[in-house]
Amino acid sequence: MSELPGVRQIATEVREGRTTAVAQLDACLSRIEAGDKSVNGFMEVQSEAARTQAEQVDAIIARGDDPGPLAGVPIAIKDNIVMQGRKTTCGSRILENYISPFESTATERLVKAGAVLVGTTRCDEFAMGSSTEHCAHGLVRNPWNHEHVPGGSSGGSAAVVAQGMVPAALGSDTGGSIRQPAAYCGITGLKPSYGRVSRWGLVAFGSSLDCIGPLTRDVADSAAIMNVIAGPDSHDSTSVDTPAPDYLQNLDERKPLVVGLPRQHLHERNHPAVVAALDEAKARLEAQGATFIDVDLKMTDHGIATYYVVATAEASSNLARFDGIRYGRRAEQRAGESLEDLYARSRGEGFGPEVRRRIMLGTYVLSAGYYDAYYKKALQARRVIHDEYKQVFQTCDVLLGPTTAEPAFKIGSIADPLTMYLSDRYTVGANIAGIPAISIPAGLAEVEGASMPIGLQLQAPFLGEQALLQAANQLQQSSDHHLASP
Ligand code: GLN
Repeated sequence: MSELPGVRQIATEVREGRTTAVAQLDACLSRIEAGDKSVNGFMEVQSEAARTQAEQVDAIIARGDDPGPLAGVPIAIKDNIVMQGRKTTCGSRILENYISPFESTATERLVKAGAVLVGTTRCDEFAMGSSTEHCAHGLVRNPWNHEHVPGGSSGGSAAVVAQGMVPAALGSDTGGSIRQPAAYCGITGLKPSYGRVSRWGLVAFGSSLDCIGPLTRDVADSAAIMNVIAGPDSHDSTSVDTPAPDYLQNLDERKPLVVGLPRQHLHERNHPAVVAALDEAKARLEAQGATFIDVDLKMTDHGIATYYVVATAEASSNLARFDGIRYGRRAEQRAGESLEDLYARSRGEGFGPEVRRRIMLGTYVLSAGYYDAYYKKALQARRVIHDEYKQVFQTCDVLLGPTTAEPAFKIGSIADPLTMYLSDRYTVGANIAGIPAISIPAGLAEVEGASMPIGLQLQAPFLGEQALLQAANQLQQSSDHHLASP
C-alpha cells in the first residue's frame, strides 16, 4: 500500500487543484470497501457526512479561498471522540445508539483545516484494552496477519492506516493505546504531552492520563496533524494554554542528540528482533552524530501497578454517568422495580466484562477503607515516576527504547487480564508523567512463519514535541522501515 499518498501529499494536490476533495474521498471509500472486509477496522463509514465536508472544501477552492492545510485529507476517528450528529459508541453496548449533540475540539479543528472525516474506528470498550478484542461490536484484525490482534485500544485506527485505507486517523492514549497499536501495525503514532491537545469531546476514561493523538504513515504527517489539533482550548481547563509551535517548520533540523537508553526497557524478555531493531537504530543515529548514555527508570516496574490504580479509580468515577437514565442504553423496565435495580441492570447489561472489572477495581481502591493503601499510594508513586523522568531528562534530550517487548500476539491467545496489562510496560510511564512519546516502525519480526511489525518508542520532556518529532523524523528518514506495508 506504499503507493497511497500521505497527508501532506493529498493536501498539496488538493490545494493546487490537481485533484479534488471529492475525488480523494471516492478513492478512499473504494479502498475501504476493498480493504475493510478482512480487517474490520471501521465501526461506521459515514460517507454522506464526509461527502458534505469534501464538497465544502471543493467549493472553497472554487471560490479562490484558502481551504486549510489539510484540504481534502480523509481521516478516520476513533469511536470515542465525538462528532456532532454522528454516532459514538466507545465500543460499548451501553452507548450503541448515542448520537453526539456536540463536536470534539480535535475533530472541529480538523474540519476547519479542510480534512474530511470518513468515519469511526473500532476500539476496545471505553478504550480499556490492548488488543481491540474487547469491542462489543466485533474485533479488528491486524492487516499484516489476520490471525493476530492489531493492538489496542486504538486498534481500528491503526489497522485502517496500516492497510492503506486512510492516510491518517485519530486515536486516544491513556496508557499506550496509540503507540502500542501503531507498533503492532507498522505505522507511526504520537501521544502528545498531557493537555497539548484538547480532550473536549473525548469520552473520558482516566481523565488525568487521556490524550488524543495522530496515527499516520510517517512522522511528518503526524506533525502536520498536530499543527491543526494542538493548542489551547477554553472548553478544556486542563489544556495547556501556551500556543503550540509549528511542528513542521524545523522538522528536518539535525541536532547532535544525546539519547538516553533506559536500562529497564532493555529487558531480557524483549523479542530478539526488538533487541536487534534497537541496536540497528542506535547505529544509525550514532552515524549521524548522536551520543548515547545509559539511564535508569527504576520505577518502570511499578508503572503498571500505579497506572492500573489511577486509571481504574478515574474510570470508576467517569463511568458512573452511564446509568441508563442520564446516559446510555436503559434495560427494559420491570414492574415494581426500584430505580437502584434499574441502574444496576442497565449497567450490568451495557458494560462488558473488562469494563465491569475496572469499575469494581476503581471503586475498591477509592473506598474509605483502602483509599490510603492504594489510591493515595499510587498518587505518591506517580510523583516519584514524574520526578524520575525529570531527572533523567537533565542528562539527555530524548529516550529511546522498544514500544513493546514483542510483536502482535494471536487473537484469543491472552486470556489472563494481568498478562494483557503487562503489554503496556514501556508505554504507561509517559502517561503517568504527562510527557510526549512516539512509536515509529522499526522493521519486522518473524513470528510463526509470518512477518510482523515492531516499533521503537522515543520519549521527550513535557511539551518537548518539537524535539521529539525532530529526533523521530531523523531516525525514520535514515531507514525505510516506515515504507513497509502488509
Ligand atoms: N492498554 C491500556 C489499558 O487497557 C491502555 C489503554 C489506553 O491507552 N486507552 O488501560
